[in-house]
Parts: sequence; C-alpha cells; structure tokens
Amino acid sequence: MIPFEEAFAITEKYKPSCEMEYLPFMDSIGRCLAEDIISDINMPPFNKTAVDGYACRREDIDKELIINEIIPAGVSASKKVEEGECVKIMTGAAIPEGANWVFQVEDAQEENGRVRFAGKVGKDNIAKIGEDIHKGDMVLKTGKMVKPQDIAIMATVGAVKVAVKKQPLVGIISTGNELVEPHVKPAASQIRNSNAYQLMAQTRRAGARALYYGIAADSEKEIFKMLTEAISECDIVLLTGGVSMGDFDIVPDVMKRAGVNIIFDRIAVQPGKPTTFGVHDRALVFGLPGNPVSSFLQFELLVKPMICRAMGVTDFDRIRKHKLADDYIRKHNDRMALVPVNLKRDETVVPVEYHGSAHINALTDAYGVMKVPIGVSELKKGEIVDVRQI
Ligand code: AMP
Ligand code: MG
Repeated sequence: MIPFEEAFAITEKYKPSCEMEYLPFMDSIGRCLAEDIISDINMPPFNKTAVDGYACRREDIDKELIINEIIPAGVSASKKVEEGECVKIMTGAAIPEGANWVFQVEDAQEENGRVRFAGKVGKDNIAKIGEDIHKGDMVLKTGKMVKPQDIAIMATVGAVKVAVKKQPLVGIISTGNELVEPHVKPAASQIRNSNAYQLMAQTRRAGARALYYGIAADSEKEIFKMLTEAISECDIVLLTGGVSMGDFDIVPDVMKRAGVNIIFDRIAVQPGKPTTFGVHDRALVFGLPGNPVSSFLQFELLVKPMICRAMGVTDFDRIRKHKLADDYIRKHNDRMALVPVNLKRDETVVPVEYHGSAHINALTDAYGVMKVPIGVSELKKGEIVDVRQI
C-alpha cells in the first residue's frame, strides 16, 4: 500500500499523447486549446460611445449646442463637429472627428434641434480604441478549456478555425456476475450497473471520449477478451470491480495476462484502497473498485488529471479551503480519508450522512469531499480543511 501522493506522482509520469486538430470555433466548446489565439484587430476598433447621448467638444459642455445630425451604430458622421455643435449619437457608434465628449440622453434637454447638458460633469463616456484588446494581443492561451465566453472572444477576433487537442479515448468495462444493465429490473442477488455510466459521464465531463465495452462476468476469459480489445482501441482503459480481496476478484491477474505491467495495486486512501494502475504499450489501465463512490472518487483523483494532462488542460482541480462546522472524529487513521461534505450558509462544511462507499446518493447533493490526512483521527470545529468540489 502506498500513500495517495505517491500513487498520484506515479500516474503523473504517464500521459497518453494527444495530437492536435483544427475545428470550426463553435465545435471547440469544452475542448482544450492547442495554440494561442491572437487578435487581428483592436477592440474597440474605433473610439465609440458607450451610451446613447450627444457627442461634442469638452470645452463646449456648458453651451447650447446645434445638433448636426443623428448617428446610429454602424454609421459614420458626415462632417466634423465644430465649436458650438454636436451630434446625437447611439451606443456603439463611432465618435465623429472634432468631438471628445459624450453626455447621456438622461442628462440632456433637447428642443428644436438644439440641446443643453443639464447633468453633473463626470466621465467622457467614450470607449477608446484598443482599450480592451490590442491588435496582436494573445486573447486566449494554450491549455485553456473553451467556455461560452471564450467563443465570444473567438468571434470578436475572427478566429473561426481553432487548434485544439484531440480527445483521449477512454474504454470502460464493468466486471461482476451480479450486474445487469440499467434498463433491466434486477432479479434476486443482482444489482444494476451504475459504475460504467457514471464513468462515461465523468469521462465526458473531463473532456474525453468514452467507449463502453459492456459487463464482463467474473471470468478470466470474458474479462481478458474485453480488456485486450479495449487496450488495442483506447488510450486509457477503466475496469470496475474485481480488484479487492474476494475469491472472484481476478482483474489484476487478467491485467497481467493481457500484458499490463502493474505499477501499484493498493493506495492508502478511503474509499478506493484496491485501486490498481498498470501500463501497457498501447494503453494505460486502471482497475477501479466496484463500489460506486470509490470508483467515482478514484476517477476524479487519478483518471481525470491524466485526461487533462493528455489534453494540456491545466486548470482542472477545484480544491477550496473551508472551516469545519463541527468536530470530526474517526476510528482508523492509517489511510487518507475523503469524506463527502455539505456547505453551510456560513461557508463552513459538515459531513453528509454517509453509510460507506456503496452509498451512491451520498454524493448527489454533496458539495465536495474533505481530505483527512493519514495519521489524523480528529479535527476540531473551525479547523481549515481542503475540500475537493465534485
Ligand atoms: P467488487 O470490487 O467487485 O468486489 O465490488 C464491490 C461492490 O461494488 C459490490 O457490492 C459490487 O456489487 C458493487 N459493484 C461492482 N461493480 C459495480 C457496478 N458496475 N455498478 C454498481 N455497483 C457495482
Ligand atoms: Mg465483483
């Protein structure tokens, strides 16, 4: 059994290599940028008014002004603004030559083609050329996971084709004689396969592609067949179940037979102790525990970072510091514990009702999992803990 930090450091040495591809920018949502995006223009591209109002010379602000013309957004003024003149101007329109001040409609008294400023002198209400983005600026950085806000930036700078990392392919295999698929009503002694679907969803959320191979019975032959197929097709292979100490927990042996070099097979973490990791020439293979909470958390802790590394995503971990709402005590302290917690109104955290690693609905409403290090059996109310959001 190795400490979690050591297991993590081992997996960090491995990453599937992901090439890059060019995509229409709208297809890049949720993908990881493989090249910086550079602006081909200034933003704003011209001095523009930030309000609906009147554009004039700063020194004329106290005079009654003649309105030369009305300028909608997208139209340029036909002549220069001279002394004692102004234009009526709409938000987003270019400031005419000669003008260097805009006062808002709300602060104006207009009558018979003339207008007076009747407000308090504040700012000029002009968005200056290039004040947001300069031509040549890097606006989106390599390694960024594309969000809807980034799509707006791409549209603004005309980045209609963007380079992204290809998504790793993650193969998923469930093992267990007791499993049936979700559409089947389980008979006595059976349960529905939830892990494969949870893992597929986690894989997609992490930005990778999931390929489901099905349920293998606890037989060497079946697991071997699915595993070898998955290894030949995928970058990462996830098996669930069959890695603990039971008579039918044969996954690590089958991994070896399939040519997987097992790097570790026990982690000092709770839940998730039997998590197994091995390397094959063609794929990286995880044997995840069968219990759904363990499988979920080990994916978040080990597999997701591997997917993110492969795609070059850097900002994936969401770990926050919170104060404990109450004292926390545990019996054994030989493993790092991950305890599902809720967030209270005052931003302190409190453990949720949790019956153990099979208690799948403990996670649905949980805010995150709190980390309790090895050797620590007691935490005091008000102590600061690391909480991984899930
Ligand atoms: P195992 O690691 O195979 O001993 O499984 C540990 C526990 O997780 C057992 O109670 C299994 O029935 C359960 N389990 C295993 N695989 C799955 C799965 N795919 N979906 C839901 N529960 C599972
Ligand atoms: Mg099993």
